[in-house]
Amino acid sequence: MHAKTDNAIRYLFDKPPEPGATREVVPGLTWLRLPLPFILNHVNVWILDDGGTGRRAGVTVIDTGADKPDTRAIWERVINEDLKGRRINQLICTHGHPDHVGLAGWLVEKLNIDLHMTLAEWLAPQVWREEGLRPISPDVEAFYRNHGVPDDAIAKIRAVREASPFRNHPLPSNFVRFRDNEMIRFGKRNWKVLVNGGHADEHASFWSKKDGILIAGDQVLSRITPVVGVFPSQPHSDPLSDYLRSLVRLRKLPDDTLVLPSHGLPFRGLHTRLDELAGHHEKRLAQLMDLMKKPTSGCELAHGLFKKAMAEGQTLLALAETLAHAHHLVTKGQAKRIVAKNGNITYVAR
Ligand SMILES: [Zn+2]
Repeated sequence: MHAKTDNAIRYLFDKPPEPGATREVVPGLTWLRLPLPFILNHVNVWILDDGGTGRRAGVTVIDTGADKPDTRAIWERVINEDLKGRRINQLICTHGHPDHVGLAGWLVEKLNIDLHMTLAEWLAPQVWREEGLRPISPDVEAFYRNHGVPDDAIAKIRAVREASPFRNHPLPSNFVRFRDNEMIRFGKRNWKVLVNGGHADEHASFWSKKDGILIAGDQVLSRITPVVGVFPSQPHSDPLSDYLRSLVRLRKLPDDTLVLPSHGLPFRGLHTRLDELAGHHEKRLAQLMDLMKKPTSGCELAHGLFKKAMAEGQTLLALAETLAHAHHLVTKGQAKRIVAKNGNITYVAR
């Protein structure tokens, strides 16, 4: 990142808390950093003081971290020690990805509390769980084959899945639904629910107008770009148009909003960050237009667009991101999607 934008983005702290440790960000709003066993090695969750005294004292928790033994141990410690006798009143999840809802079922059962989220995000992890318990469907294999993924790479995807079936704790069997633009109250503040697509179908962020705080989830991250991808379950989707629309929408919030992202560091300078995120995608779209001078498969385009990720074996993610950019260009009329008789799909600039 170049110096100019670093000046416009002001981080509240130079360094995050250690994994498993907490830190108060503003009065009554605590940051808990949880470890993740991936390249992306952490997720931020937020604990908000709901007030009340004695046995009525409680907090609201936003997101849970992944379902891993070390994360469960951290939650046990937070509940038994860090909260100093305050109970967890409710759990709110921004979206259904496993690093955000991984322990939702476990926490809800353990504490007998309600889970609040959007409908699509409550449903999605249950579909993935069902899917993960079965062998890869022929439709999924066809999706990859039609986009030019070689047979040996598909065989590898199958082998990885068979070796480690999806075993996350199930989500609770009921939940409290909130919708876009609804006002909800937690942490002694009123929050407007902002539901946006792109990274997830119904991702929720929470905006406190009075205090100028945005609990952003994965919609806006501080240093990395949220994944925006086309996956086999929605092969014709155009999530990048949804994502870019969400950036325009969030730009209506004040620039000095305190942004609390799920990965990275809390910061101010929302407009600069939104412009950077939009600029990042604009750059990728321009690169893709260059790569699509003749009809080219998604896999080949991914090799051109994400050389490093493809070399590291991140084929599926690179393909998903590439298709998101290609489908956005198709929506805008700048590219064409061609389906051959044998099912093979290519993209070409118009
Ligand atoms: Zn996510």
